[in-house]
Amino acid sequence: MARIVMKFGGTSVADIDRIRNVARHVKREVDAGHEVAVVVSAMSGKTNELVGWTKAADAMHDAREYDAVVASGEQVTSGLLAITLQSMGINARSWQGWQIPIHTDNSHGAARILEIDGSEIIKRMGEGQVAVVAGFQGLGPDNRIATLGRGGSDTSAVAIAAAVKADRCDIYTDVDGVYTTDPRIEPKARRLKKVGFEEMLEMASLGSKVLQVRSVELAMVFKVRTFVRSSFVDPDAPGMGDFLNPPGTLICDEEEIVEQEVVTGIAYAKDEAQISLRRVADRPGVSAAIFGPLAETHINVDMIVQNISEDGSRTDMTFTVPTGDLEKAQKVLEDQKDKVGFDVIQSESGLVKVSVIGVGMRSHAGVAATAFKALAEKGINIKAITTSEIKISILIDGAYGELAVRTLHSAYGLDKK
Ligand code: ASP
Ligand code: MG
Repeated sequence: MARIVMKFGGTSVADIDRIRNVARHVKREVDAGHEVAVVVSAMSGKTNELVGWTKAADAMHDAREYDAVVASGEQVTSGLLAITLQSMGINARSWQGWQIPIHTDNSHGAARILEIDGSEIIKRMGEGQVAVVAGFQGLGPDNRIATLGRGGSDTSAVAIAAAVKADRCDIYTDVDGVYTTDPRIEPKARRLKKVGFEEMLEMASLGSKVLQVRSVELAMVFKVRTFVRSSFVDPDAPGMGDFLNPPGTLICDEEEIVEQEVVTGIAYAKDEAQISLRRVADRPGVSAAIFGPLAETHINVDMIVQNISEDGSRTDMTFTVPTGDLEKAQKVLEDQKDKVGFDVIQSESGLVKVSVIGVGMRSHAGVAATAFKALAEKGINIKAITTSEIKISILIDGAYGELAVRTLHSAYGLDKK
């Protein structure tokens, strides 16, 4: 017998039929004798609709009232799933974030979980009751509902799993696991059996949309074994209830992964824009003068490349921002022109960042060279490169994005195993 947190995303609870299907997944685990808590998202499309309504009511709305509105989607699905489970003879009860409570900070609309009191849920699970928890929400210090940012119910699920000391957090979604790359781009992509927390964190931040980045951070910190699997299969198909080896991808500690490959996956992020400041004064304080104001404007700067100046007086600074923020960023920089002391701003949008990820890079040489050679053979020009211990990110022209993904996927033999 184990303790499991099961999380179901928006497409998995999109209508009453889908909710009934989810209830059958829950019933399977309950019937196997496990203690179960469930976390649900809003029905797919619902949160977008609610966000749209708050904007239509007033574009400058109060963030606390935004939260009161958008948290309602999860309230609906938690109640509906509890009703459905009860109709199947399962003892179930819905929980809103404030009832548990899930304490958050005061950043309405993008709150962070501070603490969860798991005691009541643990007690009820012990009595055989299934807790159906509304994801995406908690209780702020102002005693008001706070939401966790879009995609936040993944984070709710991992946090609840940590709070109740679950053996595993199963994230049910519309894909059946984490793949070596996006199968829509490379049909030869393979489902991974296991991925390390750190690798998954890179994949999530670098464009893979399977899990909210924050949820992976939390899973890594609290060592929550997190399992990505599909709700779009017959809940009673063979193997689905196999606790030790169900179909899907386990996100876990590196030590649990015995056969570690050098490269685990290829991620890509579209709509990147590049900004180059030419002939920037080469003196202390210049980077702060460039990136400080961008940060204050909430522009997310990603790759940063600064060259060493030839004569110690002027250098070039290149970095990337989301294409949607390009205009705003240019405006901020123009305003800083005197302070920074650069000649011109050059920019290019519609770029793609392709990343090669794998903890094996730590101990293998030549991993980057393989990527450069493979891209060169396809005539793909590299605009910028950044690396960390476990990833290489390459910025290229948007038109070559998919070709680059396929090229790198096969260069590291990911389609073969
Ligand atoms: N319903 C929320 C959203 O659409 C939270 C979630 O689904 O994870 O962002
Ligand atoms: Mg989601």
